Amino acid sequence: MTAQRLFAVIGDPIGHSHSPLIHNTLFRHLGEDAQYIALRVRPQGVSAAQSLLRDNALGWNVTIPHKAAVMADLDTVDTTARQYGVVNTVKNVGGQLQGYNTDGYGFLAGLGQWQQELPGQKVLVLGAGGSSRVVVQELLQAGSHVVLANRNRQRALDLAAQLPEHLQGGLQCCQLDEIQAQERLLVVNTTPVGMSPHVDEAPLTKEQLQGTAVVYDLIYNPWRTRLLDHAAALGAVVLNGWPMLFYQAMKSQEIWREEALPSAVVADVYQEVTAFVERQG
Ligand code: NAP
Repeated sequence: MTAQRLFAVIGDPIGHSHSPLIHNTLFRHLGEDAQYIALRVRPQGVSAAQSLLRDNALGWNVTIPHKAAVMADLDTVDTTARQYGVVNTVKNVGGQLQGYNTDGYGFLAGLGQWQQELPGQKVLVLGAGGSSRVVVQELLQAGSHVVLANRNRQRALDLAAQLPEHLQGGLQCCQLDEIQAQERLLVVNTTPVGMSPHVDEAPLTKEQLQGTAVVYDLIYNPWRTRLLDHAAALGAVVLNGWPMLFYQAMKSQEIWREEALPSAVVADVYQEVTAFVERQG
């Protein structure tokens, strides 16, 4: 009997991760004997966990708070992940660990048709943590003018200073409470403000959002945050973070299998898991 192919996600907390649902649904649709499991790994256990996975799994995802820490154990890190400074996908090639990052791909896929509009446009990014690093770089690379607003202004300035030099010119930093209504294409929320159970909170007021065409919240629990409610009331297009999570997962799969997934299967899996998660909340 051949061993079942094993994949995983490591993080802390990890109990509410939807990644096993997404990947295991894909395996079922492809008729594959493979399993994707979620492992809660404490910060001091990252190296031990990766050593265990090196012997047992073909690949794994990495989530909060280990995306930077895992890099110390990897044999190679691809250019994109190195530029972001964080890894979310590890591929195990016969014991050799390769690091990648598929969050930027997922972010742009979640933006859908609006990514065509980015060059030359004004974009506001809220938050200067791990996901903001990826989002800001993708937006600057696409040619938009980015304002990075954070509660702690110094952290935004630190993020800006760590960007590749050729991207730094397109970025301005400020504090969240300095934001005013303005004509702009896009606001992206990368803060956890509004995430369950704090569903009555929003990182910006409705007044601050005025003039925005599209509001993209990386949160997907709740499905529609208070920020997206404000945006919808103003007539803006609203996008949540679910497609980002889904498409980063599909890209990880393509890295592990070294081939594109059949688009019809991806569409069916998206429909099935989205209906399931949407029903939950
Ligand atoms: P992180 O590294 O901890 O950064 C969080 C950022 O939010 C920081 O800039 C922090 O500001 C700010 N913040 C936290 N609490 C705040 C508050 N009460 N008021 C104002 N600002 C606040 O987190 P992350 O990894 O970037 O993740 C952020 C969010 O994105 C989470 O909700 C996560 O679930 C979501 N996410 C979604 C996906 C997806 O696939 N959809 C992927 C990645 C992340 P300070 O610097 O001032 O502390």
